[in-house]
Amino acid sequence: MQKPLALVTRMDAATETVWKETLADALPEETILAFRDMSAEQRLEAELAIVANPDPADVANLPNIKWIHSLWAGVERLVAELGPSAAPIVRLVDPELARVMAEAVLAWTYYLHRDMPAYRVSQQKAEWAPRDYRHPRDVTVGLLGLGELGKTAADRLKGAGFNTIGWSRSPKTLDGIETLSGEGGFEHLLDVSDILVCLMPLTEETRGMLNTHRFGQMKRGAAIINFARGPIIVDADLIAALDSGRLSHAVLDVFGEEPLPAPSAFWAHPSITVLPHVSGPTDRFTAAGIVAANIRQWRQTGKLPKTVDMKTGY
Ligand code: NAP
Repeated sequence: MQKPLALVTRMDAATETVWKETLADALPEETILAFRDMSAEQRLEAELAIVANPDPADVANLPNIKWIHSLWAGVERLVAELGPSAAPIVRLVDPELARVMAEAVLAWTYYLHRDMPAYRVSQQKAEWAPRDYRHPRDVTVGLLGLGELGKTAADRLKGAGFNTIGWSRSPKTLDGIETLSGEGGFEHLLDVSDILVCLMPLTEETRGMLNTHRFGQMKRGAAIINFARGPIIVDADLIAALDSGRLSHAVLDVFGEEPLPAPSAFWAHPSITVLPHVSGPTDRFTAAGIVAANIRQWRQTGKLPKTVDMKTGY
């Protein structure tokens, strides 16, 4: 008899049950139990935890788990809360998530490229103010992060005709896309990008990486899309850069505190578009299929998919 798998989340009970049922459908050969329903004995037996923003105290109550599978792609909170002694963590790598995120990157790139923020203002003033059309090939979109999400977004932007360039921690080769790394590469990307798209994880290195110094290295009037994590941008520096005209607009889907608190200056700022963390939602069904395939592979071969590097934090 196989040992149970623990589902540990901070979801409300009804949402967690829906996830449990979807996972059970994808893994009928396993017994999946919600942590809150497990007996002390079952918690001791569990070999694996499937998690979604779990309470670290709950994970600590599963002393014999060999690994942790996250249902989310971003694991920064999990890494920070569980710490270096945690069991190996596997995050969700889902081509459907990458497709949805790439779609969002393209949609909001068009929003900026076709001057929608300016037309919204014109309409409010009843002003008929056509602006010159720019061909996408004359618009450079710079991607920070060329991982699972960044490289799919880069392909989508390139397919739409944008001059697409990207930057990552280690050097990369991507078909038809100029790729950069290192400090020199970062400065070049900032210098030439009309639209900067952030898809890097939040780590010790990336926290606060987009600040007054970096905004000063950007093209005057460039715009920013942050679909990664809020604290990569220094909020006050962003507002100052927008107020001074150094930057023209920011589309923000992620924030240091979510939901974004009512007093935040972002809500009413004329040059900021606030989105409620919707750029890359997890698809429950494709996610459950991927988690199931990873668990089956582990049962059959003992091998884990790529695990999170706790030193780099992603
Ligand atoms: P990933 O596959 O781990 O890719 C991360 C990319 O960022 C890699 O190219 C990596 O470089 C680069 N990077 C990391 N640290 C860097 C640094 N210090 N300097 C330069 N580049 C750096 O992650 P992913 O699956 O693409 O996801 C990226 C992030 O998106 C997640 O961490 C999460 O925060 C966010 N996300 C947001 C949503 C949403 O709805 N808003 C949904 C899902 C995910 P290397 O290639 O050299 O390693």
